[in-house]
Amino acid sequence: MTSSTTTPIPDDQRVSATRSLLLQLCAGAVLGLVVLYGVAFAESPIAHNAAHDVRHVTVKPCH
Ligand SMILES: [Zn+2]
Repeated sequence: MTSSTTTPIPDDQRVSATRSLLLQLCAGAVLGLVVLYGVAFAESPIAHNAAHDVRHVTVKPCH
């Protein structure tokens, strides 16, 4: 039988890691929304059509 030799993570490091994870998730969500709405309402028909084609390729509801 083997014994586990893990050391407990201090609370301050655990809180810091949790904050870092939440910050990364929020930054990713904001970036995704900016890209999504930036492309959806873009004046350039190339960016809009490319995003539209991706919707059709990924079988998302459209029209
Ligand atoms: Zn469409």
